[in-house]
Amino acid sequence: MFVTINPPIQNSSGKHRLHDSENEPLAAIISIMRRTSFPPLIDSFGRVHTSLRLSVTDRCNIRCFYCMPEKGAEFVPKDNILSFEEIHRLARLLVQQGGVTDIRITGGEPLVRQQIPRLIEMLAEIESLEDLSLTTNGMLLAEQAQSLRQAGLKRLNISLDTLNATTFKKITRREGLEKTLQGIDAAIKCGFESVKLNTLAIKGVTEPEVTRLVRYALDRNVMLRFIEFMPLDADRAWQQDQVFTGDQLLSILQNEFGSVEAISRPDPSQPAEEFQVEQGRIGIIRSVTAPFCGACNRIRITADGAVRNCLFSASETPLRGLIRAGASDEDLLSSIRSCLAQKAKAHGINEDGFQPPDRPMYAIGG
Ligand code: SAM
Ligand code: SF4
Repeated sequence: MFVTINPPIQNSSGKHRLHDSENEPLAAIISIMRRTSFPPLIDSFGRVHTSLRLSVTDRCNIRCFYCMPEKGAEFVPKDNILSFEEIHRLARLLVQQGGVTDIRITGGEPLVRQQIPRLIEMLAEIESLEDLSLTTNGMLLAEQAQSLRQAGLKRLNISLDTLNATTFKKITRREGLEKTLQGIDAAIKCGFESVKLNTLAIKGVTEPEVTRLVRYALDRNVMLRFIEFMPLDADRAWQQDQVFTGDQLLSILQNEFGSVEAISRPDPSQPAEEFQVEQGRIGIIRSVTAPFCGACNRIRITADGAVRNCLFSASETPLRGLIRAGASDEDLLSSIRSCLAQKAKAHGINEDGFQPPDRPMYAIGG
């Protein structure tokens, strides 16, 4: 196979993160071809895709304003949601013939889907899969953490935007802070390879929470990562000035904790910049102010079986119809490769004329 590798990508502000070395994609390609004897999932900019975000539902038990509408959320009809067998088939195909090495289960809220541990068990058995993780709002974790771990889940990310019950209700339009906190404590006890907390960074919401959240994470010896608010809300109310930026966060951290040292990142496809704060590490994901599109290695499958090459892509490739019509593995993989071939250079949030995607976050899978 002949592969053209373009140089890393930089946006007009010069802020795209770059591949640390131009040889990195080539090394990934060689390693995947050795392991699978198939060409890797590569796009027209030379980005090799090894990380799969798998949404298992678009339903959720809360209604975060930055993701879902307060009322009248539209959900995919149940019959259109992929079965566990269909999900497993796509995942196996992508791992064994596409070189995917890690899968993150997401949603909607993945733990509202019945029998998720059974799906985890099925995925954990896929040969050559190196990492299996899940992102959750934590509300159902107290009941499910142990069975998820036993089923083979390796890592958990739990969303936690506030430690204040009133703010929690304002964000989520539901009660539930206590259940989330119980879920976090239960997860920490279950021996996952890692438990991380995700905090959305939103101006006017996050500032009063920063110090308390960081202390909460440091006390539990888990990493907390702040993620800049992106235009993926169902209400389409996002404004650039609502993004609580990585720079603004850093200045609060420096004021509060004194020394905040950047830690060098060995893997450019990892979106979080990490900082040493007291005895622990804090992450900042500058998805808006310093996008990591240049090193993106992610491919996504929605709960209703569409493959997306980016959170922000204007189009997607439906696979469910193909699967249910009896498509071969080869046909499916070829549709996935065509979808990836159309992947844009960058999400373009900061460009004039940017249009958010048709689907909001809960319907794509974060
Ligand atoms: N329900 C689970 C949860 O909230 O963790 C998993 C799905 S949620 C869509 C996955 C992640 O996306 C969460 O960490 C959430 O905070 C993040 N997210 C949701 N809307 C976002 C937005 N508009 N910008 C950036 N991140 C967002
Ligand atoms: Fe539900 Fe997660 Fe979206 Fe919040 S961010 S509404 S928990 S899917």
